[in-house]
Amino acid sequence: MTDAPEPLPPVTHGGRLARLRARLRERGADGFLTLHGPNLLYLSGFSGSSGLLVVREASAFLITDSRYEIQAADEVAAGIEVRISGDGLFAALSEVARSWSASRIAFEPTHVSVRALERLEEAAPDVDWDPVRGLVESLRLEKEPGEIERMRRAALVACSALEETLGRVAEGMSEMEITAELEYRLRAGGSEGPAFESIVAVGPRSALPHARPSDRRLREGDLLLLDFGAVVHGYRSDITRTVVAGRPADWQVAVHAAVRAAHDAALAVVRDGVAAAAVDAAARGSLNDAGYGEYFGHSTGHGLGLEVHEEPAVSRRSEAILRSGNVVTIEPGVYLPGRGGVRLEDDVCVEAAGARSLTAFPLDLREI
Ligand code: ZN
Ligand code: ZN
Repeated sequence: MTDAPEPLPPVTHGGRLARLRARLRERGADGFLTLHGPNLLYLSGFSGSSGLLVVREASAFLITDSRYEIQAADEVAAGIEVRISGDGLFAALSEVARSWSASRIAFEPTHVSVRALERLEEAAPDVDWDPVRGLVESLRLEKEPGEIERMRRAALVACSALEETLGRVAEGMSEMEITAELEYRLRAGGSEGPAFESIVAVGPRSALPHARPSDRRLREGDLLLLDFGAVVHGYRSDITRTVVAGRPADWQVAVHAAVRAAHDAALAVVRDGVAAAAVDAAARGSLNDAGYGEYFGHSTGHGLGLEVHEEPAVSRRSEAILRSGNVVTIEPGVYLPGRGGVRLEDDVCVEAAGARSLTAFPLDLREI
């Protein structure tokens, strides 16, 4: 049992809607429609699994169904009208849209299926549906203090779950058993669920960067890689640590030290105004110098927030410039086929003077 957590600072949906409306005016659009869960949550506060939000210059409304009537009344921000539909989201939209002739309404092609677009066109045939990519995602880039606090809380829950799990892991446990223990600890610690499908990999399987937990059991001398996260009010953490069962072999110590150095090199570069590609280059350069460059195939990190992978990418090809309030992961890794892999991942908030880590968990090669 843990004490009740401190209340979280509020987040301000009104400011988000105002920023969205300013973007719509620049674009010459009369409104914006989203069906995408993380964007619904960001703009309106609604966390249900089925909803349709329309934001126009002078009004906004959210359509959902009776399963969410009580929840929507509780969650949806001031200034957004809630409509409960018994005949589906698109039927309700069709009624409202009768007065919208010749309107230009922006929608998100990245999150709308071909069938959903057909239904939008059927529901509102006189509307000029305007595809716009990444509009709300660009607003979500710069986290408010209340969002960072939620992410810090999600990081704390993940770190506690990791500490408790490592205290219970023993040789002979399977990857699935370790995953079950970890996810139980996450839930019990206050996570709304796993932030994504947890990766727990032992021995040579730790060389598979996205291994699914299997029935392979932990044996003396194995590396154990755990990559997982918690969710608090929709905000995610994403942490990786790699430990060893018993005494580490020399090659394991060497690989871990190289990954740790790459992690630290990348972290040292992070601050407001730096190109995300320069952070990737710092990690990659460090691993190249150590002779492991060819064993690091993925990018150094990614943005994190309401989704586990969001903007900005921290990769070789990223064109993003890091800004204060961005939250990104730093996660270099080295994967030796047939032997094992090491990845170390932290979540950091970009600030003017540098990176502030949200995941406070020791980085040394722990022996369990
Ligand atoms: Zn991860
Ligand atoms: Zn990650």
